[in-house]
Amino acid sequence: MQPGKLDPYVATLNGLVTQVFGDLTVTQLQDLLFFHQHTPLVARRRAMLIISRARMVAAVFALLTPVWIAVDIIIFGWPLWAELAGLRLLATAAFAALAFGFRSSESIGAAHRSLTWLLAVPTLFFLISHPLLSHSELSGPAAAVATGYAFLPFVMVAGLSVFPITVIEGVVFAAPMILAQIAVAFYGDMNLFSFSSLLGALWLLAVLSTVATLAGMSQLHFMMALVNQASHDGLTSGFTRRVGEELFELQFGNAVRTDTPLSCVFIDLDHFKAINDKFGHEEGDRSLRKASEGIRKCLRRGDVMVRWGGEEFVIIMPHTDCAGALIAVQRMRAVGIGERPDGQPQTASIGIAERNADGCADWQGLVEKADQRMYAAKQAGRNRICLCGGEMASDEAPLADLPGQ
Ligand code: GH3
Ligand code: MG
Ligand code: MG
Repeated sequence: MQPGKLDPYVATLNGLVTQVFGDLTVTQLQDLLFFHQHTPLVARRRAMLIISRARMVAAVFALLTPVWIAVDIIIFGWPLWAELAGLRLLATAAFAALAFGFRSSESIGAAHRSLTWLLAVPTLFFLISHPLLSHSELSGPAAAVATGYAFLPFVMVAGLSVFPITVIEGVVFAAPMILAQIAVAFYGDMNLFSFSSLLGALWLLAVLSTVATLAGMSQLHFMMALVNQASHDGLTSGFTRRVGEELFELQFGNAVRTDTPLSCVFIDLDHFKAINDKFGHEEGDRSLRKASEGIRKCLRRGDVMVRWGGEEFVIIMPHTDCAGALIAVQRMRAVGIGERPDGQPQTASIGIAERNADGCADWQGLVEKADQRMYAAKQAGRNRICLCGGEMASDEAPLADLPGQ
């Protein structure tokens, strides 16, 4: 087929994707499909949310599961009600252990374990109770209550909608319940009638899993938007200081664990107060936004820009040593850190520090070192960089002449 002939189909597909998913970017769409590339902030918040919800649902089930024993006693004869009561007490203990014994965590592995635990209990309950019920001769109200037991997989699949999950998680967590439904069908004598009712049940389970996963995805999307909004400064789009500190903690821990370098660049814009005084606060805001755009342009994907204070920015650079950080700062100065309202280039005083080179024990020590060097750059006349060794670089003393490059 000629390439041109595909165009209408591609356009239709694009239109469909836009209609269904609104104005999602490809990265956002990927984050709704898989969880491996979630930002550390989203991953942490999501893990905490999944665990707290799993514990909450488990607490509700721990309360409700034993209550139904009274109904079983009235409806079913001996020994069926006693067998079911025994199962219910075991399930109650497992739910209670999850609700009150599972520790809160920020790890997505722990979140998956809590969800597995929550879903495994009713799945096992269903797999054991089904043969007990189907091998008993039941009629009237007892048959009606027994049918209620058969609804368990549907309830569990629908319950997935409570969690902010990705598509892959929706598929993986719904699959055991669909397999359990198939397994119990093969316990009994498979005839044409039970085969067609199995197909109907599987079809309904598939539809419910899809709807529950879509609901979970939309929760995830909403959560990501909230995390994104709450973690960024409205004026410069840099991370807020509170989130910056959290990210520093994470990145410093990672760097220590993997024994990799971690650089910190402290940037303070020069004579910024004069812009407000001469041109007004709005012009000041505009210059600040331009400066942050200039800085961001020169960063790599893994670098993090934090608005540390009014006209101060801190850049966290994972896997970057002093020389690498200097290259980024050189690029920044070459591209320009925005301009002032009178058209003059905005300058900045910059301090660089690195975890290994400066022997920092924690991230606070690393920022403090970079801050001190920024201050030294101010003292030396502004518009310059103070490097890891304390050397000073400015336009008069070009960076290329400095050691360590
Ligand atoms: P220096 O070269 O010594 O850094 O001088 P400076 O004027 O930049 O430093 P100083 O700390 O004296 O003043 C910082 C100014 O930055 C004060 C404040 O008016 C301005 N500023 C901080 N945040 C904002 C903001 O969000 N918007 C605007 N328009 N100005 C801000
Ligand atoms: Mg300042
Ligand atoms: Mg300043």
